[in-house]
Amino acid sequence: MATILDGKAIRDEIAKDLSSKIQNLKSQPKLAIIQIGDVPESNTYIGQKIKFGQSVGAIVDHIKLPEDVTMEDVVGKIEDLNSDTNTHGIIVQLPIPQNLDKAAIIESITPEKDVDGLHSVNVKKLLDNDPSGYIPATTKGVITMLEHYNVTISGKNAVVIGRSALVGKPTALALLNHDATVTVCHSQTKDLPKMTQAADIIISAVGSPGLVTKKHVKPGQVVVDVGTTIVDGKLKGDVAFEEVEKVVEFISPVPGGAGPLTVASLFQNLLKAYEGQNA
Ligand code: NAP
Repeated sequence: MATILDGKAIRDEIAKDLSSKIQNLKSQPKLAIIQIGDVPESNTYIGQKIKFGQSVGAIVDHIKLPEDVTMEDVVGKIEDLNSDTNTHGIIVQLPIPQNLDKAAIIESITPEKDVDGLHSVNVKKLLDNDPSGYIPATTKGVITMLEHYNVTISGKNAVVIGRSALVGKPTALALLNHDATVTVCHSQTKDLPKMTQAADIIISAVGSPGLVTKKHVKPGQVVVDVGTTIVDGKLKGDVAFEEVEKVVEFISPVPGGAGPLTVASLFQNLLKAYEGQNA
């Protein structure tokens, strides 16, 4: 049986650490979350961020904009927040309506407040392995999880399944920055089991329940499941947990693995933003 990579336990430790640090600040760090429209999943994710943020003593300002908001109004709101010295982090909850220019909206956030790490300045810093930037929260959470369990990354073969700008690519870059040899797989990859079998560390970020089975793994591996899909009202990861955990050395569950760490990592980024803006 594999050791479970317990994201909730690590999240709780991060929460304690954040609470004690925030208590000692002159003012409370404030995160602005801009929500455009009313996607039900976004409501759930924002609810989790508000709950965690408040539990560690941060202020979370949930700004709701209507589905038919104009680009001008969204960018205007972001510019107000950019110049508000009491707001330290700004995120736009994705997805946003198709008619809006997502890239232009993200680029309008000042990089110092881009705690989701999606602005091109922060993407470049991740490319350059420059620690002054913000790493996207899910990626940061994956690295935190591996480090917490003393999983050696340097020199290991890592396979990341998924190549999105939000999860797959930044996670591949972060692992590369930690000296792993990284292979990125995607929907056009031929023979996924052959690629994953050759890995020491597998990170799956697809959103396809049951994609990673016992035929994809071998003993001694570390498997982190980032995928989340609702199936019959239940949250499912990409990994066929029951059969894979019998084979590998470490495995993260869904729920209770990467998800809780994503939220905690966002607030670690917020504290870093606060400190940067109050240095
Ligand atoms: P996405 O933009 O839909 O990207 C999915 C990726 O999976 C794409 O690169 C796609 O390849 C690849 N893919 C699809 N089918 C595949 C297959 N059969 N074999 C190999 N690769 C395949 O999704 P995302 O935003 O990156 O999110 C990925 C998953 O992580 C989702 O389930 C999402 O809900 C979850 N997520 C979880 C957290 C968390 O906190 N736990 C945070 C963010 C996201 P192509 O590029 O070729 O299409």
